[in-house]
Amino acid sequence: MTPDSAGVVCSRAGCRDDAHWRVVWRNPRIHSADRRKIWAACDAHVAYLRDYLAARDFPVEVEPLAAADAAVEATS
Ligand SMILES: [Zn+2]
Repeated sequence: MTPDSAGVVCSRAGCRDDAHWRVVWRNPRIHSADRRKIWAACDAHVAYLRDYLAARDFPVEVEPLAAADAAVEATS
């Protein structure tokens, strides 16, 4: 198992697929207006994560993941 330095892994718990999407969101109840949380998502989980946040009325945007973007956080 050689880590792929260029790869970003999906933030979904238990998923180790390469992420192709960036899910940008915040919780208006605990985050200030300029705060952003970023999750990474693979093709299989981007809709799941977006819907998970949207169902809670959190502002959420999905963007293509930039190759250099490694500033992602794990869910859980
Ligand atoms: Zn995934």
